[in-house]
Amino acid sequence: MAKRKGLQPEDSARTVLITGANKGIGFETARQLGAAGWVVIIGARRAKAGREAATALSEAGAAASFIELDVASTPSITRAATEFGKSFRKLDVLINNAGIYPDEGRNILSIPREEIAETFQTNTFGALATTQAFLPYLRKAAKPRVINLSSGYGQLDGLSPGVPSYCLSKLTLNGVTLMLSRALQDQGVAVNSMSPGWVRTDMGGPSAPRSVEQGADTAVWLASEAPQELTGKFFEDRREIPW
Ligand code: NAP
Repeated sequence: MAKRKGLQPEDSARTVLITGANKGIGFETARQLGAAGWVVIIGARRAKAGREAATALSEAGAAASFIELDVASTPSITRAATEFGKSFRKLDVLINNAGIYPDEGRNILSIPREEIAETFQTNTFGALATTQAFLPYLRKAAKPRVINLSSGYGQLDGLSPGVPSYCLSKLTLNGVTLMLSRALQDQGVAVNSMSPGWVRTDMGGPSAPRSVEQGADTAVWLASEAPQELTGKFFEDRREIPW
């Protein structure tokens, strides 16, 4: 892990790892938490982009570092968890933000199963495997939390035949949230899904009505202000929404 100026891996500081945080909602969430005094670890599959993102936050005064993490690759997740353990004893919050939207021109009537599987590798299995790998560090935190970036497209009412692999991947991610929350409730680890709304990022495009600040707001709230007892739920705009 490339350490950055100002990084002090102390037990007292709250630590957050955000996957896919080199740009978009993930980067904005990192920026807001960094400005609030959190120790921020930027997860990114492209080292150069991840380093640049961590440097930008460090230059703005945050305690930020970068860790190489491709959530579609089990060896990469394992390596990242080992690297993390060299600098940190515990992880307070994991934000499974990395995601892809490869469904342009696709339909549930014709999409090849391999394409669905590929989307799941990042959006669904990536979040699950990353949570599994970082659980030993989460368990050492006082108020551990896992936040899964889902979508309105993952809601039962939002399933759209023209967005097949993305919808199914986020629907199943919500299932992962529910199952992890039940498995970890006794251990005090809160696990929730959230929808950021339609946000102006590379994924959301320029026509989206929401800014990245708005898109990151519920993630920042779930990380820092939400009651620890809230678990196994789905949120948008800090309010619970139906699955
Ligand atoms: P974005 O700007 O496209 O950013 C996606 C991030 O995920 C990038 O950093 C990307 O890295 C990373 N990523 C993709 N595959 C990865 C992998 N295998 N390993 C590690 N990182 C990976 O998208 P966004 O709009 O910020 O979306 C963030 C999350 O919000 C996603 O889960 C998305 O599904 C969800 N969401 C977004 C919207 C919206 O309107 N934007 C709406 C609902 C939900 P690279 O830079 O290397 O590609």
